[in-house]
Amino acid sequence: QILGTSSSSSGAFISVSRAFFSSTTPIKATLFPGDGIGPEIAESVKQVFTAADVNMDWDEQFVGTEVDPRTNSFLTWENLESVRKNKVGLKGPMATPIGKGHRSLNLTLRKELNLYANVRPCYSLPGYKTRYDDVDLITIRENTEGEYSGLEHQVVKGVVESLKIITRKASMRVAEYAFLYAKTHGRKKVSAIHKANIMQKTDGLFLQCCDEVAKKYPEIYYEKVVIDNCCMMLVKNPALFDVLVMPNLYGDIISDLCAGLVGGLGLTPSMNIGEDGIALAEAVHGSAPDIAGKNLANPTALLLSGVMMLRHLKLNKQAEQIHSAIINTIAEGKYRTADLGGTSTTTDFTKAICDHL
Ligand code: NAD
Repeated sequence: QILGTSSSSSGAFISVSRAFFSSTTPIKATLFPGDGIGPEIAESVKQVFTAADVNMDWDEQFVGTEVDPRTNSFLTWENLESVRKNKVGLKGPMATPIGKGHRSLNLTLRKELNLYANVRPCYSLPGYKTRYDDVDLITIRENTEGEYSGLEHQVVKGVVESLKIITRKASMRVAEYAFLYAKTHGRKKVSAIHKANIMQKTDGLFLQCCDEVAKKYPEIYYEKVVIDNCCMMLVKNPALFDVLVMPNLYGDIISDLCAGLVGGLGLTPSMNIGEDGIALAEAVHGSAPDIAGKNLANPTALLLSGVMMLRHLKLNKQAEQIHSAIINTIAEGKYRTADLGGTSTTTDFTKAICDHL
């Protein structure tokens, strides 16, 4: 079993029968190339999957050029329908224009598709040296509410208000997901991350739900850690943690911290889990406008997200083959992108991975 990402790392609630697929039956999946570096790294995934003989039929989706009134977003109804129909997809990063009034693309996707949990494995890559060589963490982020509810307004001139929404329903389902994930992946411990000492009602409710679910899993060690202390402990000794479950904003921040422990945002994948059996994989990072279009992006995070998607589809052989090719290319050290201290272009690095298959 590969660190942090055992064979069904994405979906304890979801089982997709692969008996249906044969090597000649193409696998239909939605692909959002996304913005910024998105198209470059999506191209890399397509090339590696083709070289690994994964028979994909990518349903490529591009967001609209105008706001779609049915979604109140540049994300169109057709974009959403593609994911609803295919049930599985891979998403490149999508840029969020600041303060433009319409709904963010990512928020729209999460809300409309009910993508309630975001699973972010973060593990040391053998052969790529960082301060720690034993990082093996799973961050599970509540994905639909908290500070990301989009409820902000001006109270009076000079005063704005933003509402943090925590519901029992969303907290229970993400807590259930985290404990079930821990159990089905042989994990020993779940840490609920919070700031309930200050946000007594909201984080308090989140914790109550985690406490309740924890009682059903006596075999899994359960602890509650205040978020500021959690940051300090993660930086000092990441081996103290195993599975971490937390409200939305904390998950966004902590998972970037975790990415920093293993070499940066170019390396960390994720999978969004939906209630309707939908699984949408995506890199943790954003559109990286500073390096977009320059053939400098590291495609590893999106490739590893693709690996999570393949495992979700129970295509474990192809998943392991691609995973090993990525790890071996990075470990060999001859081809690495600039974020990992190398001089390779995205294209050369991708070709090296294909050569390692
Ligand atoms: P970012 O993740 O795009 O970039 C942060 C830093 O990491 C940059 O220096 C960038 O060059 C580097 N980086 C990120 N991915 C990399 C990769 N694959 N290879 C090499 N270097 C990489 O964060 P940001 O600059 O804060 O956000 C840019 C845009 O992306 C914003 O509009 C933001 O809202 C959006 N965003 C989208 C998602 C998503 O689609 N899920 C996630 C985060 C941010």
